[in-house]
Amino acid sequence: MTSVRAHLAETAQQTLPDGNFIRMSFNITILGTSGALPAYGRFPSSQLVEVENRYFLVDCGEGAQMQLMRYQANMHRINHILITHLHGDHYLGLMGLIFTMHLLRRTNDLHLYSHRGLDEIITAHLKHSHSIPSFKIIYHQLEKDTIETVYEDDILSVETILLTHKIPCTGFLFREKIKPRRIDKTRLPGGLRLQQIANLKKGDDVLDSNGEVIYRNEELTLPPRRSRSYAYCSDTAYDERIIDQIRGVDILYHEATFGADEQVKARETQHSTAAQAAEMARKAAAQKLIIGHFSARYKDLAPLADEARAIFPNIELAVEGNVFSIAD
Ligand SMILES: [Zn+2]
Ligand SMILES: [Zn+2]
Repeated sequence: MTSVRAHLAETAQQTLPDGNFIRMSFNITILGTSGALPAYGRFPSSQLVEVENRYFLVDCGEGAQMQLMRYQANMHRINHILITHLHGDHYLGLMGLIFTMHLLRRTNDLHLYSHRGLDEIITAHLKHSHSIPSFKIIYHQLEKDTIETVYEDDILSVETILLTHKIPCTGFLFREKIKPRRIDKTRLPGGLRLQQIANLKKGDDVLDSNGEVIYRNEELTLPPRRSRSYAYCSDTAYDERIIDQIRGVDILYHEATFGADEQVKARETQHSTAAQAAEMARKAAAQKLIIGHFSARYKDLAPLADEARAIFPNIELAVEGNVFSIAD
């Protein structure tokens, strides 16, 4: 975890002369971490997920645009906003953000992902303010019963996680695709053409003009770097049905609205306790757990952290402004 300022300097991709990347960024910036009500300076849910200069806003609670400005994130680089569900603490910052983007003359398309109804809400706002945004809004309606891949490009996919809550609610799983093999510079002979090096990275051998093998791929390459993953699970009751899907993630963000003292309330409201979030991380063999979406009844969050740590040691509290980076 680093401060926002420190990480902003680090996010640019750097490339070696042989085409291997020396740093591939994967950063999660916490913008809001309060459940239901803002409390003790904590903002409602929102996070900025950045993977290799692809920017996703995950949930957009009230004040999300203020938080983006506070932490010097460029809102115009966000082309995808993923809304888990239509409880106000997860989307009420959206109109403010959209109007600001409009006033700043954004031109890029903005993709919005949510369950049914968000398009009606936004259209009503725009209609009654006689506003036509300077950019195109493209709505993607999430399925409540089916896991879907909602975003995919050559390095990354984002799929939905079916959560258990009072209204349709989905989390999101960010997962890098399998990466190219890495050139082993210590064994690379001189004189290879760029195309031959590109083929090596794809896993092919180096051939001569007659199609005969000159070098076998494994002689000159190293295995790919591992593919990183991040699962965002909020809001949800404890539900083991998601374990297989999120197994082995580098970071699991799981809501922990309550402590063990409010276990009954957690069940009634379809939220989780800190211990349940930790149990989920343990059963899914996550590398790290971040808990958030804290109830306004907890000023001091240390007891929630302690409760979770007793079950899953590698946990951290979500705190506004913290950046969690996943190393490649
Ligand atoms: Zn919530
Ligand atoms: Zn909710």
